[in-house]
Amino acid sequence: SIVVTGATGNLGRHVVGQLLEKVPAEQVTAVVRSAEKAADLAERGVRIAVADYSAPGTLDGVFAAGDKVLLISSSEVGGDRVGQHTAVIDAAKAAGVSLLAYTSAPGTLTAALADDHRGTEKALLASGLPYVLLRNGWYHEVYTENLAPVLEHHAVVSAAGEGRLSSAARADYAAAAVAVLTGEGHENKTYELGSDESWDLAEYAAELSRQTGKEIAYRPVTVEELTGILTGAGLPEPVAAVFAGTDVSIEKGELVVTSGDLARLIGRPATPIADAIAAALKA
Ligand code: NDP
Repeated sequence: SIVVTGATGNLGRHVVGQLLEKVPAEQVTAVVRSAEKAADLAERGVRIAVADYSAPGTLDGVFAAGDKVLLISSSEVGGDRVGQHTAVIDAAKAAGVSLLAYTSAPGTLTAALADDHRGTEKALLASGLPYVLLRNGWYHEVYTENLAPVLEHHAVVSAAGEGRLSSAARADYAAAAVAVLTGEGHENKTYELGSDESWDLAEYAAELSRQTGKEIAYRPVTVEELTGILTGAGLPEPVAAVFAGTDVSIEKGELVVTSGDLARLIGRPATPIADAIAAALKA
């Protein structure tokens, strides 16, 4: 079986949807927290396993010998994500899966957000399981799903200065995962994933202006200003700190990916940010 955890999340839904175009549904298992949320997947013939990363006992019997597993990283930032992911790795190891692919973060990323990913990679390598590290760069959607304040204030606010990043669409990262899960020869490989084209916030504001016909400016701010704006908008301080820390990493160029791995794995150029903007404006 091909087993996908986090299958009812945004990335997981892309992965399962794309898998179903390539393999029969009975060969796909979706690991989910809520069977109700996965009802549409069950309807399509996907096997559903209910488990929680935080309750290791629920992971018993989820995996079988020879399975290829995609562990989608937990969204519980600030929680014990390394412990959660290690519970999945332990269960996969006990079952004797043939491959465990993990959605990690770029190797160059030093922001606090990367710590859980480095910890998980260490646990995965220590397990001795055949692994694949899918070091996903930033999602286009981190930006394009948060356009409302940008359009309201006619400003892109960021503490990333003139830093560039090589974000890519969730659907493209999903396609890379599907290529690894359905292809051969990926054992013990590390892929640094992102678009071949990088962009900066001024270019992003210019593209938004072009597509909306409105004057949208780039307003660079300091990390302190950004933290204040985000907490002022109601974000808890630790979450605001994570966003601000990410901008620092972008300014340092830590989210630029030059490997070409994504385009190679998916067999085509990655979707440009302009297309993601167009899709978001249409939605
Ligand atoms: P989502 O938040 O949409 O999905 C997260 C998935 O993880 C959900 O399916 C959720 O289950 C599942 N999950 C969370 N906690 C647990 C748990 N304790 N036990 C079992 N499953 C759990 O995120 P995306 O799909 O967009 O992204 C996938 C991951 O990538 C994120 O979780 C995060 O680690 C990382 N990420 C990367 C970004 C990037 O730019 N590269 C940006 C944002 C996140 P449920 O459906 O039940 O909620």
